[in-house]
Amino acid sequence: MNSIVIIGGGHAAAQLCAGLVEAGQGARVHLVCEEPCEPYHRPPLSKAFLKSADEVSQPHKAADWYREAGITLHLGNAATAIDRAARTVTLRSGETLPYERLVLATGTRARRLPGLPDGLDNVAMLRAVAEAHSLRDRLAAAQEVTVLGGGFIGLEVAATAKAMGRTVRVIEAAPRLLGRAVSPALSAHVLAAHREAGIDVVLNATIDGFAIDGTHLVELNIDGKRQSIDLLLLGIGAVPETALARAAGLDCADGIVVDAHMQTGDPAILAIGDCTRFPDRRADRPLRLESVQNANDQARTAVATLTGVPKPHDVLPWFWSEQGAMRLQMAGLVPAEGTPGHVTVRRPGPGANPNAFSLFHYVGGQLVCVESVNAPVDHMMSRKLLEAGKSPDPAKVADAAVPLKNLIA
Ligand SMILES: Cc1cc2nc3c(=O)[nH]c(=O)nc-3n(C[C@H](O)[C@H](O)[C@H](O)COP(=O)(O)OP(=O)(O)OC[C@H]3O[C@@H](n4cnc5c(N)ncnc54)[C@H](O)[C@@H]3O)c2cc1C
Repeated sequence: MNSIVIIGGGHAAAQLCAGLVEAGQGARVHLVCEEPCEPYHRPPLSKAFLKSADEVSQPHKAADWYREAGITLHLGNAATAIDRAARTVTLRSGETLPYERLVLATGTRARRLPGLPDGLDNVAMLRAVAEAHSLRDRLAAAQEVTVLGGGFIGLEVAATAKAMGRTVRVIEAAPRLLGRAVSPALSAHVLAAHREAGIDVVLNATIDGFAIDGTHLVELNIDGKRQSIDLLLLGIGAVPETALARAAGLDCADGIVVDAHMQTGDPAILAIGDCTRFPDRRADRPLRLESVQNANDQARTAVATLTGVPKPHDVLPWFWSEQGAMRLQMAGLVPAEGTPGHVTVRRPGPGANPNAFSLFHYVGGQLVCVESVNAPVDHMMSRKLLEAGKSPDPAKVADAAVPLKNLIA
């Protein structure tokens, strides 16, 4: 009865397993995965994986590693209920697992388009490797790809499909791409780059109907015009998977609410990764982030909590996205539009390349966020600056001849 049960088979769960094994706790761990495979890396699924049928999914650890670590895997067997009083988890198979500590790492689910039925043969979503296989097969057969949603996953798939020679259009409801995650200046650059690559991007778009024939989506009404659909990717965001937590009476608010130790309101239950809403001193309200960095770092915080050496979570958020020839890297939290005292400083990237630069965001003279495009060294140095709480002189930052590492000391 001293088991640690982890529900979820993604990045957060994989990192938590690794941390618990390092702490000598592997034999206590039961990992419950809805998907029928060990945890794997999701980022390649919208990039290299789609381009070639030879690409395979990349597991975090091989099956042997789990066995040797003493971890009991329950694959393809979703958790269906938590009994907090009895401290048990019920699996779809009917099996019941007792726990001393339980960690929810249930991630997110792709958001559906209201009214559009599931199971249409030319409509895809992308979250799990099974969906990536299906999208890859459909991409191979399609000539035209419509991506609904100008967020990271939608734009990554759009760029991949374009590189494969497809005709691609992106339909976005908001006035700019990546509107929730990056600055207007970076949105404008990303828009120009995708248009230059030949992708048709429609902003401020409204979907006001669709036509289905059998299991085929024939048309979408976009801004009142009927547009034929060959293949549609729904990239309209993700919703946190909180159903189990809610049913168990845990506090949820667009995410499972946790404290700085990843504890829910029940001391026996933690939550980590995309499914959590957590406090962060950089933000004026609790955050929910969807990134590999966040999943990994929250798992490390959970290991500290579970092994009795608690350390409050206080980690600089960072993120990356690859869209065709663009490598975007963000460190810190971009200030909301209209934040008083917000100043942006542009630093040219390496080699006088107009498509390589970084945007340094200051609020009230304090450096809070750096967005880099094709400037990986500046991104790494920016993370060090932000972690050290430095706010270098904007004039020096704007001068590409001044190495950022000189500004850290
Ligand atoms: C296509 C794609 C590309 C991405 N690219 C990037 C990128 O370039 N950079 C970046 O930083 N991030 C990227 N991300 C986001 C990143 O992958 C996520 O932030 C990360 O996977 C979150 O990890 P997680 O463990 O919290 O959730 P997930 O990885 O989503 O894992 C959650 C797991 O829980 C399982 N689960 C849910 N409910 C149950 C249940 N009841 N019982 C058992 N199991 C359950 C799910 O099946 C899933 O396997 C990408 C995501 C996708 C889908």
